[in-house]
Amino acid sequence: MAERWQTAEPDSKPMRWPNGARCAVCFTFDFDAESLWIAKEPKNRELLATLSQGRYGAKVGIVKILELLKREELKATFFTPGWTVDNHRDKVEMLLNDGHELAHHGYMHYWPDPDKPDQIIEELDRGLDAMKRHFGVRPVGYRPPGSESCHFLLEQLTARGFLYNSCFKDDVHPYRHILRDGRRGPIELPEHPSMDDWNYGTSHLRFPKPIFPSAHVLGIWQDEFKMIREWGGIYVLVMHPQVTGRPMRMAILRDFIAFTRNYSDVWYATGREIAEAFATQERLN
Ligand SMILES: [Zn+2]
Repeated sequence: MAERWQTAEPDSKPMRWPNGARCAVCFTFDFDAESLWIAKEPKNRELLATLSQGRYGAKVGIVKILELLKREELKATFFTPGWTVDNHRDKVEMLLNDGHELAHHGYMHYWPDPDKPDQIIEELDRGLDAMKRHFGVRPVGYRPPGSESCHFLLEQLTARGFLYNSCFKDDVHPYRHILRDGRRGPIELPEHPSMDDWNYGTSHLRFPKPIFPSAHVLGIWQDEFKMIREWGGIYVLVMHPQVTGRPMRMAILRDFIAFTRNYSDVWYATGREIAEAFATQERLN
């Protein structure tokens, strides 16, 4: 008998974007700070230079990114672990004061493990608690740490009323998840490693990776953008303040924004705005 391992497949179809736009661009930042390194290896709590790589995102990167977004009059979505909210409250407050969207990204940045359902629940609820406790915010968007997911997590997001998720790589158009029991799940805003700064711009002594030059990264981001626009899709750029906040990478983001400005039919929107537009169209159809 054939193994049925996945849920029903939602249709892939273009959305009608507001104001006659041809595509949507969504700037997202995973504001992990040190949490990512601590989750990777508990001993990193004591390794100050390793931690400082994450701290750069909260200390320098986020400030530079908020300055650029303000200059460009753009709003972005910041997927933020509860740990970052607890430990870098002032920087999270800055992004909220600038009118950006605060979205959920776990608590301690543990990757969702289908064999650890209790940890999945704890990550979700501790993250929600941190945002409520500090800012009275109830986020509607979620990106799992590591951009990985599982059936149980999608069900838990649905139970908590999350409007959207953003980590699947199976489309260039938003779609509605169908849970394994056939119920409707959250809306998906798909992304892809080709548009994730982590794959081009970070390295570490114990996990060395090549750093890619600006022209290389900008070329990939522009080429994806040109075709996604032709297809009428959604362009979700995944960035990290500890990566894109580096000097040379801020220039890549600035140049990429300038490139997209050459087109007059782009809708720049937060994850929440795009998911809400999708939900409205769904009701009308
Ligand atoms: Zn992350």
